[in-house]
Amino acid sequence: MADRTFLSWPFLEPQHRDLYDRVDAWAGASLAALDGADESGAGAAGIVRRLVAAMGQAGLLATAVGGRDGALHGPLDARSLCICREVLARHAGLADFSFAMQGLGSGPISLFGTDEQKARWLPGVAQGNVISAFALSEAEAGSDVSALAMRAKPDGAQWRLDGAKTWISNAGIAKLYVVFARTGEDPGAKGLSAFIVEADTPGFSVSKVIDLIAPHPIGALAFDGVKVSRADMLGAPGDGFRIAMATLDVFRPTVGAAALGFARRALDEAVRHARTRKLFGQPLSDLQLTRAKLADMALAIDAAALLIYRAAWTKDVTGARISRESSMAKLFATEEAQKAIDSAVQIFGGLGVTRGHIAERLYREIRALRIYEGASEVQKMIIATRVLADAQT
Ligand SMILES: Cc1cc2nc3c(=O)[nH]c(=O)nc-3n(C[C@H](O)[C@H](O)[C@H](O)COP(=O)(O)OP(=O)(O)OC[C@H]3O[C@@H](n4cnc5c(N)ncnc54)[C@H](O)[C@@H]3O)c2cc1C
Repeated sequence: MADRTFLSWPFLEPQHRDLYDRVDAWAGASLAALDGADESGAGAAGIVRRLVAAMGQAGLLATAVGGRDGALHGPLDARSLCICREVLARHAGLADFSFAMQGLGSGPISLFGTDEQKARWLPGVAQGNVISAFALSEAEAGSDVSALAMRAKPDGAQWRLDGAKTWISNAGIAKLYVVFARTGEDPGAKGLSAFIVEADTPGFSVSKVIDLIAPHPIGALAFDGVKVSRADMLGAPGDGFRIAMATLDVFRPTVGAAALGFARRALDEAVRHARTRKLFGQPLSDLQLTRAKLADMALAIDAAALLIYRAAWTKDVTGARISRESSMAKLFATEEAQKAIDSAVQIFGGLGVTRGHIAERLYREIRALRIYEGASEVQKMIIATRVLADAQT
């Protein structure tokens, strides 16, 4: 049984506790069948399709686009996003992924869309009928977003997009892609804009499928004269970098929350094993070196949770940009989850490195979280930049 004491911390409100119980009950009833499922890229794509449909039907995806009290969408609530991701990740990595990408892929529309853009896309995302994707990264522009090369040029009443993207989660199964391209108002990051692109637009294709160590649908995209209407731009020309970064601000703590869910699962499984496995005539959990590992894991989990819900609370309550808090939460939670899961693998011994074992799965699943939505080094740069800027004021 995962620790629930954090639910009474002052960062959270009764609605968050209710959400936790609702998502946990749904996940407990719906996700056990994923154990031992086909993990290949194609298998994962099928699972994500089914999960998005099931979560849409269960009403869980409305949270990914800010819906509550029966509304299909509304203002994003960072704490609700974190609660959902932490619970789902604890049950099954692909469930967390499915939920997270519905939020991230449509996040620029939730945060910056016009009423028409929101009404057109967000209900479908909430119902699980429209799978969404966030297309920022390119082969030569991962950590360095300002190096983005994909172009968008005015073409009569439309925009014409040419170029390539890579590492795009949900490539091939998404219907809705939010795509960032260079429109050239200024050099570097200030010359980017964001567009809504539908998968069946002529000139758009998935050029490559990528096979990950913990598979989820992901690949490269090609844009060959893709035309979108002027109404499909998000914000104004030149707003793209600001839209991407503000979206990541909201979703970075949720990456930390997913890492927290993985770490909680690792601790639960390690405790269960350590209490029952006999070594040298006593339970493994009676050995002091095991206890030290369990203590370190529990400490890291609580500290990560504090940073995550601090960041999310700050966003929800003050409405301010939370780059510093968001980066701290993602950095600490993902790095510490990696260590906690490694300890769990160690506690399980040979079982922990056996393919398909929960500890082995978590060990593969956590790794990418230290790289995507800004690698740990990028988070350190953001934190240090804020610390230095604050020291000048
Ligand atoms: C599983 C997965 C899913 C993804 N999903 C998406 C998606 O849906 N949409 C999307 O747009 N992108 C996505 N990405 C791309 C992801 O955001 C990039 O992989 C990430 O930004 C890093 O870019 P890169 O891989 O090109 O590595 P690079 O930019 O080449 O960086 C390599 C390494 O350099 C180090 N580094 C970075 N900055 C610094 C620094 N300042 N100082 C020192 N070292 C540094 C880091 O360790 C980094 O890992 C995904 C990636 C993965 C792995």
